[in-house]
Amino acid sequence: MKTIGLLGGMSWESTALYYRWINEGVNEKLGQLHSAKLVMISVDFQEIEHLQHAHRWEKAGRLLAAYARQIQVAGADFLLLCTNTMHKVADAIEEAIDIPFLHIADATAEAIKQRSISTVGLLGTRFTMEEAFYAQRLQNKHGLTVLVPEEADRDLIHRVIYQELVKGIINERSRNEYLTIIHRLIQRGAEGIIAGCTEIGMLIQQQHIPVPLFDTAYIHARRAVEMALDEPA
Ligand code: GLU
Repeated sequence: MKTIGLLGGMSWESTALYYRWINEGVNEKLGQLHSAKLVMISVDFQEIEHLQHAHRWEKAGRLLAAYARQIQVAGADFLLLCTNTMHKVADAIEEAIDIPFLHIADATAEAIKQRSISTVGLLGTRFTMEEAFYAQRLQNKHGLTVLVPEEADRDLIHRVIYQELVKGIINERSRNEYLTIIHRLIQRGAEGIIAGCTEIGMLIQQQHIPVPLFDTAYIHARRAVEMALDEPA
């Protein structure tokens, strides 16, 4: 079994899910008392959030690249960055390491294509919904059509992530607001919805919506299990 590297803490609420899902996934496949071999660095999210909202992406990239390097030195065979947003600095991280980097958008796109879906709605932080690094990768590399919510809806989604979900707060009213936004995306043609923030799956689950939900954290964690066990995608 390969050793999985996790760069997490963004937020720890979702990294805790990764840890659980990866261990559960390995045990499902290998049985007995098997669990995952794993190296993790978990950051102080306050520092990262500050850099994000100050648009100091270069500094954030340098910081995460240094952590990624430490994870490699500690023995990881490949690396996951446990947040969609910080994939904005994925290039800096990839340059700093020699081990493979499992990009969250690639893992998600593969899951979407397996369902023969071509048009998806994307929910995430404003950075993920509005900037090129995420949607363009889904479009250019994977041929998907990506719909994002209107501006006021993007604001609401972003606010709920930073004021509630990263603190582990699950609010029924926010769930209903998310569902209204998701229904607007479905009316515009979305055949599936990407929970493109690793905490959104805490608020919205498959039973809440009538089209397939792609929870990036879950998909990423499960793909890591397959990679650790050398299974094909
Ligand atoms: N975990 C979130 C994501 O997947 C948001 C927190 C962050 O900004 O990293 O984008």
